[in-house]
Amino acid sequence: MNKREKDRYRKKLTDKKKEIIDHISECFSESREIETGIAQDFGDKAESSYTKEFLLSLSDAERERLRKIDQALKRLETPEYGLCEKCGESIGKKRFDVIPWTPHCIVCQEKEEQGS
Ligand SMILES: [Zn+2]
Repeated sequence: MNKREKDRYRKKLTDKKKEIIDHISECFSESREIETGIAQDFGDKAESSYTKEFLLSLSDAERERLRKIDQALKRLETPEYGLCEKCGESIGKKRFDVIPWTPHCIVCQEKEEQGS
């Protein structure tokens, strides 16, 4: 994967992350009115009570997706990005264009979904 492609996926990943955080912040601030705190917090000091409370308010699915996006952003800086974590095969552009945070190729994903 060349640098241009990586830049493109990096943008997709950060956009998606922002989208999730923005969406949840909206729901969250309606009841708690601490949106400003979260916005500041997600920068450097992610350990404060605001952020902890924020993370607790996420559904499991949202938390899981944010976690996967973060991992993908880290992996993006290594040569392993684009390769399946299980079998080491290339994940493929088509799949990556839809879900750039996936750590598994379609074959391994399907195996997992079948509950092996
Ligand atoms: Zn695989």
